[in-house]
Amino acid sequence: PSPSPSRARPAAADNDGVSDSCRVRVAVRLRPKNSDDLAHGADFDGCVELQPECKKLKLKKNNWSCESYKFDEVFSENASQKRVYEVVAKPSVLEGYNGTVMAYGQTGTGKTYTVGRLGKDDPSERGIMVRALEHILSVMSLETDSVAISFLQLYLESVQDLLAPEKTNIPIVEDPKTGEVSLPGAAIVEIRDLEHVFQLLQIGEMNRHAANTKMNTESSRSHAILIVHIQRSLRIKDESNTSLPNGTNDLFPDNLPLVLKSKLLIVDLAGSERIDKSGSEGHMIEEAKFINLSLTSLGKCINALAENSPHIPTRDSKLTRILRDSFGGTARTSLIVTIGPSSRHFSETSSTIMFGQRAMKIVNTIRIKEE
Ligand code: ADP
Repeated sequence: PSPSPSRARPAAADNDGVSDSCRVRVAVRLRPKNSDDLAHGADFDGCVELQPECKKLKLKKNNWSCESYKFDEVFSENASQKRVYEVVAKPSVLEGYNGTVMAYGQTGTGKTYTVGRLGKDDPSERGIMVRALEHILSVMSLETDSVAISFLQLYLESVQDLLAPEKTNIPIVEDPKTGEVSLPGAAIVEIRDLEHVFQLLQIGEMNRHAANTKMNTESSRSHAILIVHIQRSLRIKDESNTSLPNGTNDLFPDNLPLVLKSKLLIVDLAGSERIDKSGSEGHMIEEAKFINLSLTSLGKCINALAENSPHIPTRDSKLTRILRDSFGGTARTSLIVTIGPSSRHFSETSSTIMFGQRAMKIVNTIRIKEE
């Protein structure tokens, strides 16, 4: 078996004095106003005010009080997809560590735009999934490295394969020795080039749409999970090592191979809004129960990670079981929380920001009272 790297991430202290190695990095992104927001123009001045230069966001409850929150990054409605990728996701790609990038927020705030937008004809529109794969392909050696993807949907605690839709109820298996998580039976497709990436993501999107139509639900009620399996061979010159098996130096006359295996998960989470608002019944209540279960257990894991707790409670939901080996240890976790600008959704926006803040574990929330 190829050696997996298990080196500690360098512990650089960030601005808040919390070691970078144990922090979930959190960014907030504001969606531009849409026609629906504009149709409710009177509500408009209210909800949020961004200060991207100092990475702060003010949430305005009313004219008299507002609270200010600091994030690792604050993206205004003008932030480009490229910048979001570079700040949020690029550090998690290709370093030989497992990484997770998740988008969390109310339906309609831009999670899928941020994470899953294909941008086939307009490269500036491309979201994190395409950009990450494009980046990996651009630095990979075609002879020695490989990149493969699995694309899954988690709906009602059932894992469905978006690349092979006949596969449902895929089990989640954890290696008791290494803790490595696998999904036996899920398709793992080796990527050839960017065209192939578009093709596979498009198939995944179509299957997600078809599965959700069949189940009479919306895609916003399921989590979409792209798993990128990366294997890179690095050559390390080591002429002093005399304990190598005979013939090794004939295979690699100048260098020794070191295989780095890593996994990157890019997750478009189900909408975080409270579903009881719409007076839903039947299967929607069931959906809400499972979404609540998985997002709550994700929140607990994020809290445990932020506190650098030795125990991350990943067993409570399938979402966190899938994410298990991408949490903690040397893994890098980034969260992008997406919000809309309208004060009509103040309570959802506020709870999204609180979720992001818990992940940040920020200590000095500033309260500003404006009389
Ligand atoms: P969600 O996945 O959170 O339900 P979507 O990503 O589907 O939300 O976004 C809702 C709508 O807003 C889509 O039409 C999308 O194209 C648009 N949108 C979201 N974020 C942005 C953005 N940053 N810039 C331009 N359009 C956006």
